[in-house]
Amino acid sequence: MKPYRTMLPWMVAGQVLFAACCLAGEEPSALERDYNVAPVPFNKVRVADHFWTPRLETSRKVTIPYAFEQCEQTGRISNFKKSAGLLEGNHEGASFNDSDVYKIMEGAAYSLQVQPDRSMRLSLDQLIRVMAAAQWEDGYLFTFYSAPKRQPERLWTNVRSVHEQYCVGHMYEAAVAHYQVTGERSFLDVALKNADLICSVFNPAGRTDPPGHQEIEIGLCKLYRATGNAKYLDQAKFFLDQRGRTGRRGPNGDGGLYGTYSQDHVPVVEQKEAVGHSVRAAYLYTGMADVAALTGNMEYVEAIDTIWKDVVTTKLYLTGGIGAAGGHEGFGGPYELPNMTAYCETCASIANVLWNHRMFLMHGDAKYVDVLERTMYNAVLSGISMEGDTFFYPNVLESIGQHARSPWFGCACCPSNVARFIPSVPGFAYARKEKDLYVNLFLGGEVTFETPGNKVALSQETEYPWQGDVRITVAPEKEEPFAVRIRVPGWAQNQPVPSDLYAFVEKASDEVSLKINGEQAPVKIEKGYARIERTWRNGDTIELHLPMPVRRVVSHPNVKPNAGKVALQRGPIVYCLEGPDNDGNVSDLVIGDDAELAAEFQPDLLGGVVTISGEARTAKRTPDGRIVPDSTRPFTAIPYYAWAHRGRAPMTVWPGRVPEGARPKPADTLTYISKTTASFVHVSLEAIKDQILPVDSADSSGLQLDFWPHRGTTEWVQFEWDQQHEISSVKVYWFDDTGRGACHLPESWRVLYRKADGQFEPVAGRGAYGTEKDTFNKVEFDPVKTSAIKLEIVLPKQWSAGIQEVVIE
Ligand SMILES: [Zn+2]
Repeated sequence: MKPYRTMLPWMVAGQVLFAACCLAGEEPSALERDYNVAPVPFNKVRVADHFWTPRLETSRKVTIPYAFEQCEQTGRISNFKKSAGLLEGNHEGASFNDSDVYKIMEGAAYSLQVQPDRSMRLSLDQLIRVMAAAQWEDGYLFTFYSAPKRQPERLWTNVRSVHEQYCVGHMYEAAVAHYQVTGERSFLDVALKNADLICSVFNPAGRTDPPGHQEIEIGLCKLYRATGNAKYLDQAKFFLDQRGRTGRRGPNGDGGLYGTYSQDHVPVVEQKEAVGHSVRAAYLYTGMADVAALTGNMEYVEAIDTIWKDVVTTKLYLTGGIGAAGGHEGFGGPYELPNMTAYCETCASIANVLWNHRMFLMHGDAKYVDVLERTMYNAVLSGISMEGDTFFYPNVLESIGQHARSPWFGCACCPSNVARFIPSVPGFAYARKEKDLYVNLFLGGEVTFETPGNKVALSQETEYPWQGDVRITVAPEKEEPFAVRIRVPGWAQNQPVPSDLYAFVEKASDEVSLKINGEQAPVKIEKGYARIERTWRNGDTIELHLPMPVRRVVSHPNVKPNAGKVALQRGPIVYCLEGPDNDGNVSDLVIGDDAELAAEFQPDLLGGVVTISGEARTAKRTPDGRIVPDSTRPFTAIPYYAWAHRGRAPMTVWPGRVPEGARPKPADTLTYISKTTASFVHVSLEAIKDQILPVDSADSSGLQLDFWPHRGTTEWVQFEWDQQHEISSVKVYWFDDTGRGACHLPESWRVLYRKADGQFEPVAGRGAYGTEKDTFNKVEFDPVKTSAIKLEIVLPKQWSAGIQEVVIE
C-alpha cells in the first residue's frame, strides 16, 4: 500500500485549495488538496447560443416540471409523504425510486441558478420539508422501509439490491447543489444527518460489505467539499476499498460478494478492465477519481488510467455511449460493439461524461474532453427528445423501426438523470489552473474566472456545433500575463477518439488556425490545447477556426459488426440515416468513398440542424446469395441525437461503405415474397427472412424472431402466397441464447401445408425434424402444391424458443 496522503505531480504543492464549487452565502471550505485543475462551476457560466440555450430552457420549462409530475403520478413523491405520516398507504414502485426524485431536485437546483423561478423554488422547499419529516430520528431516510410504517428490522438487509446507499448518494448530490444555489442548509442538514448514520453503520468495526450500486462515493465527496469534514471523504474511500476483498466468495467464484456485475470481483486498485454494469462501473471510476484527487491515492489513479484506456480502445461506441450488452446492462468484451442491440444506457453516457470530466481535471489533458464532448453531443442528447418529455433508456445505433422514445419508464433512472444533466452542462465548459484558463467546450455566452489576485471575464461567440468558428473576447480586471488554453478537438486533428478504435478515412486538408486581435498566430498544441500565453488586456480577442468538413469514419477491424461500414461525422456530431429522409429505407444504402458529401444547415428541420447529403448506391442479394450493387439513390443524413422525432423508422449510424457492409435488399425467394404471420412476435418477424445468416444460434446482432416470454406453448409461423407453389423442403436455423436468455431449442416442430379446402395438414415427411444448434435443420418431404406453409413449434416446458432464419424451397 502506498501512503494514503501523498503529493502527486498533478496536485498543487504548498497551496491550500478551496472547494471547487464556492457555496453561496458561505465561506468556501478550505481543502487540503483537490484536482489540480479546477472546474469553473456552472453558476459562473452564462450560456447564450442557438444550440444550448433552447435546451436549457426546455429543461427548465418542460423536463424538470414534467419529471416532477411523473414522480407525483407514479407515487415516488407520495412515498415520501407516506413515510412522513402525511399520507396513508403502502410504498409504491421500485425500492430505489427515491433516487429519481433526488436527481430531479438536483437538476432543479442547477436550473434555479441559471434562471430564478419562484414556483420551482417553492416546490423544492416543500419537498425538502416532507423529506425532513420522513427522515428517522437517527438520520435514516429511505421510503421503501418507511411506508406504510417504519420497518427498523429491515434496514441494510439487502444493500446489494434495494439500493439504500445509491439513493442517498443522489440525495447528497442534490442537497449540495441546493445548498450551493440557495445558501440554505435545510436539505444539506438532512443529507449530513443521513451520512453520519451511514458512517456509524459501515466502518471497519461494523458492516464492511460494499454498496450494491455505486453512487454514494461521489455524493460523499461532494459532502466533504461542501463541509470540509474529512469523515465523509474517508467514508467514500472506505466504500471503494470494500470492493473485491479477498476471503469473500461471490456467486461467480471470484473475490467479492457480487462479482464483476458490480465491479466487486477484485479490489478496485487491481481492476484493469471495464466490466459489468456500465452505470455502476462509471460511477465507481468517477468516485475513485474524486477520492484520488482529494487524498492523493496514486493506486486509484493507475487503476482508472488503465481502465480508461481499455474503454476508449475497445469499448466505446462512436456516439460516446458505453455498455454493449443489454443482458447485464453493461460492458461486453473487447471490440464487442453491436449496433442494433447496443445498450448504451443514457445513465451510462452521463456517467461517462462525469468520469471523463474528472479525468481531465486530474490530468489536464484535452483527450478526456474529446470523449466527454462526443458523449454529450451524441449518446446523451439522443436520450431525450427535443421537446424534453420523452426518453430513450438504451440508445441503439441501428433500428429497423422497433424503437421510439418513451414518456417515462418503470425504472426511471434515465429520464431523471438527464433532467439533472442538461442544466449542469455549463459546468463542463471551463476550468482553471492557477492563473491559466481552459476553454473546453464551445458554447456561446460568458464566464467569469476567479484567478489568484484577478478576475477574468471571457465571452464566446460561436455557432458550434454547426460551424467551427469561435470568437473569444478576454477581459481581465487587471492586465497580467497568463495562458489561455483553448481545446483543439481531436476530430479537428484527424483523431476521432484518443485510440485506434475509430479512424477517419481521409485526412482533413484544412488546418486549424488562430488569430489574436485579428493577427494570425501560430497554433502550438500542448496536451490537446492551443496554449496562448501573453499579457492579456481588456478586449483582446482570439479567433479560432476549426475546419468542419464532413468526415468518413471507419472502425478498427476487430469491431466485426462494422466491417464494410462507414459512419459520417462533422465537427463533434455523429450522423445517422433515418427513414423519413431516405424513402423509408436505410439498411440497403452504401455510401462509397467516391460519393460526394454536402453539408447544409436546414433551419426548419428538427430544430435547425446541418444535414449531410449525397448519392448512395443500394445493395441487393442475388438468388445465389451474393451481394451486389443495385441502383443509386440520393441520401440525407441527420445528427444522430435528432433521430426518432418523426415516428418509428429504420435508422443506422453505420451504413455500408461497400455492398457487403449493407443489409442488402433480400433476393425474391419464396420465403421473402411470402406474407408472413406468427402466433406471437418478440423482436422481429422480418428477421427470419432477411437472408442474413447468424454467426451461430446465439447471435442476436442480426435480430431474430422469438416467442419470449411464452414458455412451454405451441406456436406457429405461417408463410402465404397469392398463388400456389410446389414446395418440398423447409430449412430452419434455430435461435438459442441458453446461458444468456430464456430461448432454447424447441421440443419438437413440424411443417403443415394448406390444402385446396383451406385446411392445414402435415406434410408427408421423408426426413427427421432436426433441432440442431448453429446450423440449418432441413426437412424434406413429398412435394406439395400449396399457397401456404405453416411451421408448428412446440416450446420446451420451462423455456421459450426462437428462429433466426427460414428457407422454403
Ligand atoms: Zn438509466
